[in-house]
Amino acid sequence: MNKTDLKAMRKQLQAKRKEVMEGVLRAREMGSVETESGAPDIADRAASAFQREFSFSLSENEGKMLRMIDEALARLENGRFGMCVHCEQPIEKQRLQAVPWARHCIACEELQDRGEI
Ligand SMILES: [Zn+2]
Repeated sequence: MNKTDLKAMRKQLQAKRKEVMEGVLRAREMGSVETESGAPDIADRAASAFQREFSFSLSENEGKMLRMIDEALARLENGRFGMCVHCEQPIEKQRLQAVPWARHCIACEELQDRGEI
C-alpha cells in the first residue's frame, strides 16, 4: 500500500466510524421521549445523560464494529495497517478496499470462521 492508498483507507475508516455513530444516535433518538417543544433545559439534561450512557448503549455489533475500526486506525498510525494479525502477511488490497477494518487475510478469515484460530 502506498501513501495515497493509506490516506484513502483512513478516510474510509473515519467515514464508516461516523456512519456507525450516527446510526447509534438515530436509534437512540427514535427510542427517546419527545423533548422538542420548547424545553431546552430538559434537552440539555438529556444530552449530557446521553453522553454518559453512550458507551453503554452500543449494541454488541456496533461496539464490535467501532472497536475494529479503531484498531484499524491504530494500525494505520503504527504502520501495521494491511497486515494480517494472525499470519502477518499483507492482506489482499481488494479485500481492504471492501473492508478496510479487516484484521485477517482471506485465508485466516476462513480459519477464523471455522473457529480454527
Ligand atoms: Zn493471515
